[in-house]
Amino acid sequence: MMRLPKFSYRTPRTIAEAVKVIGDTGPEAQFVAGGTDLYPNMKRRQQMPKTVISVMRLPELNQITGDGASGLVIGASVILTDIVENPIIQRDYPVIASAARTISTPILRNMGTIGGNLLLDTRCNYYDQNYEWRKAINFCLKKDGDVCWVAPGSSKCWAVQSSDLVPVMVAIGAKFRLVSTLGERMVDAAGFYNNDGIDYLKKRHDELLVDIHLPATNGWRASYQKLRRRGAFDFPVLGVAAYVRYQSTGRGALAHGRAPAPSGGDSCVRTGTSSDRIIADAKIILGGIAPSPIEVNEAAQALIGKPLNEDQIQAAAEAAYVKARPLDNTDFVMNWRKQMARQYTIRALKELVAK
Ligand SMILES: Cc1cc2nc3c(=O)[nH]c(=O)nc-3n(C[C@H](O)[C@H](O)[C@H](O)COP(=O)(O)OP(=O)(O)OC[C@H]3O[C@@H](n4cnc5c(N)ncnc54)[C@H](O)[C@@H]3O)c2cc1C
Ligand code: SF4
Repeated sequence: MMRLPKFSYRTPRTIAEAVKVIGDTGPEAQFVAGGTDLYPNMKRRQQMPKTVISVMRLPELNQITGDGASGLVIGASVILTDIVENPIIQRDYPVIASAARTISTPILRNMGTIGGNLLLDTRCNYYDQNYEWRKAINFCLKKDGDVCWVAPGSSKCWAVQSSDLVPVMVAIGAKFRLVSTLGERMVDAAGFYNNDGIDYLKKRHDELLVDIHLPATNGWRASYQKLRRRGAFDFPVLGVAAYVRYQSTGRGALAHGRAPAPSGGDSCVRTGTSSDRIIADAKIILGGIAPSPIEVNEAAQALIGKPLNEDQIQAAAEAAYVKARPLDNTDFVMNWRKQMARQYTIRALKELVAK
């Protein structure tokens, strides 16, 4: 049986207290939310904080405020079950609810939080093993060793960004609020992830993720498709998030019966088939194949300025296939995962045609 190493446990009640504790304790301390990623990592001796600081009792991190008209703010400690079941998220940000529903099992979603998911450690077949297993191969670059078993000539770790919500947050243009004793800053999800399996976040160790800011739903649609071995639960070994925003035609009825934004701005999506509406902006984000989410700009270029029809979808999917370069460090053969990037991009975009 794998046991947790000894550590001291702190339960601050305010953000100021939480950031002071980590500021005072230094690099040997680490925040924990649901612990569904951190505690298994500690049992495998991949992460060894001497002090663990819970973020579950910070009131600001446990609330959801706003809606699709104004934009939604989700506290980092909101558990995934509450994301899946929240009526405003289901109505205004269905892509977030459906991507969160694919994460692991109901039991884990009752513990795991949205913040922990967005800060998830990168994964690799040579790393996500117990201490004895890793010791038997003389460890690896990411922890305790000096060679990468996936790319032995490489000085870089290629462990994979494996969160289902990360590609979606990047696609829809979410922002994250980080707080430390030095102050507060807002960062774009798109610039937050490094393409390096060890140094995978552009976040200082002492920064607390307080909340996630979703943009108003003014005319965009997004979808997420996940490749995994078992439909019941498994990490993504490819995730495709697709986002399109249509040009406003100024005609047609309001979709979903939503009221206009208080400002009178075009917060509503107009009806009409997506096959005759022109795409003003588009993003295809690939997750689960590299240390960071990968934006496929060529796919966006294939879509922008055109209607979302079969030719555009095929062109975007081809661009995703070309850009996808999975390595042999997760489940499934890497060439097949590369081919699936094409198929899952088609699926993700076709889901948007139906909307
Ligand atoms: C069996 C199993 C299956 C899984 N399947 C999936 C899956 O299919 N898809 C998927 O995306 N994930 C999956 N996960 C990973 C994980 O459980 C989830 O991503 C979960 O949402 C992590 O949240 P948590 O609150 O438990 O994170 P924790 O373990 O508490 O924390 C994760 C990391 O975030 C840091 N952290 C947490 N909150 C904050 C904060 N507010 N500020 C700063 N740092 C913070 C911690 O220090 C730690 O480094 C799975 C895990 C297991 C064990
Ligand atoms: S990609 Fe290489 S260095 Fe990174 S975890 Fe895997 S084997 Fe280790």
